Amino acid sequence: MGKEISEAELAALSGITGIDKSIISKIRHFQILDTAACKKILIREEYLRYAGNGNIREKGILQLLSEKYHVSRSLVEQVVYNKDTNKQMYCKCCGTQVSKYKYKKNKGFCDICKSK
Ligand SMILES: [Zn+2]
Repeated sequence: MGKEISEAELAALSGITGIDKSIISKIRHFQILDTAACKKILIREEYLRYAGNGNIREKGILQLLSEKYHVSRSLVEQVVYNKDTNKQMYCKCCGTQVSKYKYKKNKGFCDICKSK
């Protein structure tokens, strides 16, 4: 797990959490910022954004996030698949929104893609 959080990542974190960037920056300065937790938030957020537009395939997204945040592929998967139960799930193939129940039942695919 890379330990550095960039300025851009700080800004993104601020947007996601609603915590003022200067405060997060100060916490980082004193080295009491949980960078691992921060990266998990960023990875999850970005995954949902990619998964939502459906243009990139699931494998591509995981690979991209793993490279971008300098974390292992398995960590990305762990972060991504332990998603908040309130979050919407998307078909791994076509990106259609599916219920969490269906997502689990079809192993990540919508009914249409499952039957292909
Ligand atoms: Zn589908």
